[in-house]
Amino acid sequence: MTDVFDAIVIGTGQAGPSLAARLAKTGLKVAIVERKLFGGTCVNTGCIPTKAMVASAYAAQMVRRAAEFGVNAGPGFSVDMQRVKARKDAISAKSRTAIEGWLKGLENCIVYEGQARFESPQEVSVGPHRLTAKRIFINVGGRAVVPEMPGLDQVEYLTNSSMMAVDFLPRHLIVVGGSYIGLEFGQMFRRFGSQVTILEMGPRLVQHEDQDVSAAIQEILAREEIAVRLNAKCIGFSKRGEEVVAQADCAEGAPEIAGSHVLLAVGRRPNTGDLGLEAAGVAVDARGYIAVDDQLRTSAPGIWALGDCNGKGGFTHTSYNDFEIVAANLLDNDPRRLSDRIRAYALYIDPPLGRAGMTEAEVRSSGRAALVGTRPMTKVGRAVEKGESQGFMKILVDAQSKAILGASILGTGGDEAIHCILDVMYAKAPYTTIQRRYTFTPRFPN
Ligand SMILES: Cc1cc2nc3c(=O)[nH]c(=O)nc-3n(C[C@H](O)[C@H](O)[C@H](O)COP(=O)(O)OP(=O)(O)OC[C@H]3O[C@@H](n4cnc5c(N)ncnc54)[C@H](O)[C@@H]3O)c2cc1C
Repeated sequence: MTDVFDAIVIGTGQAGPSLAARLAKTGLKVAIVERKLFGGTCVNTGCIPTKAMVASAYAAQMVRRAAEFGVNAGPGFSVDMQRVKARKDAISAKSRTAIEGWLKGLENCIVYEGQARFESPQEVSVGPHRLTAKRIFINVGGRAVVPEMPGLDQVEYLTNSSMMAVDFLPRHLIVVGGSYIGLEFGQMFRRFGSQVTILEMGPRLVQHEDQDVSAAIQEILAREEIAVRLNAKCIGFSKRGEEVVAQADCAEGAPEIAGSHVLLAVGRRPNTGDLGLEAAGVAVDARGYIAVDDQLRTSAPGIWALGDCNGKGGFTHTSYNDFEIVAANLLDNDPRRLSDRIRAYALYIDPPLGRAGMTEAEVRSSGRAALVGTRPMTKVGRAVEKGESQGFMKILVDAQSKAILGASILGTGGDEAIHCILDVMYAKAPYTTIQRRYTFTPRFPN
């Protein structure tokens, strides 16, 4: 039997539920399909649980540093990993059950639980069910890449998903991948008390960022005695008793690292391989991302792709913004576009990195005349007072138009402060708007 709908949404990540709700509210008959956990990556294995753990790690670090602030925290302290996990689980679960309850209570919306697969451009199977609709929205997200590395099949390894079950302290965590996810986990476990080594194949950490940003981040990690091995070009693994031994063909340092656990954090791939996209005529690129136009339409009429699976964002807010773009075009007669979006994101190490727009390297290679302003966090009153003066900020401005091209704020509150800059960029206001603004934050002289 075929169930007929006006719209089918596949996946309950950051775009799907809101879109289903908007469509259902207009009176359309909607089906939404989830094969695993309601809320997807962010809620269950991504942003929410990791930021909850980052908060526990920050608390541990503040206790460790208590004496610096004149606070006597007593002799010694310990981190109870079971309670760290329980706190994180409770925060995640609250979000997950809220989304599930919301979707299941929506008028005009039916929730299917199972693996969705295209049978034709307008037909999707979910277990024994056949669903059809003239409009289908794909929000299937992505998962951790498991790279082909010699010996990896001989050892146990963790990914961001299996890390969620860790309720003990790894003695020595080897993190493969020195980018956003690897650095967040690396610093947090170091603060919980693990020894941590980060193996990065490239010549520097977070290579999408500018050199000076990478260098400052490495300095922050070094201060916490997190070992970083760059240029680890030939990573391989073997077992030695209870230990996992990682070989790393590094330019400097010892070639072998013996650890207790390995975390793979070398990137993400889209969940598009088992979706039957061929049956729907939906084109993907060489890496499996669904090709979309500026309004998130795929190559097949009546099918859209939103969130991580289209390769246009990779963040919670970009997935949600995809929903807003699609809803605006379909329901509000408002032609919002992907190309209106300014790149913005954060790296949640402590202090965090807030980013907006272009990097300095991108500005330089664009060839335009630009102004660059930098300021170390040691000259930011609030940072000094909080005892968190590591990092710096940098802003890039078009010399002719005075428009802000990009900014990096690596420093305490940088993940929040970046929004001031982002708002000015969206407003297309000149940088002088910020420069001349009256501010109540105390400033140190240059
Ligand atoms: C460790 C980590 C930390 C992160 N931290 C941040 C952060 O701090 N800030 C931030 O902005 N972003 C962060 N991200 C990224 C963020 O989690 C993702 O960008 C976001 O969750 C993507 O949402 P989405 O809507 O594209 O898909 P997802 O949230 O991945 O949801 C897709 C859903 O589709 C379901 N699904 C897949 N295939 C099928 C199918 N065939 N049938 C039915 N259902 C299916 C999945 O089960 C899943 O529930 C982090 C990611 C990770 C891994």
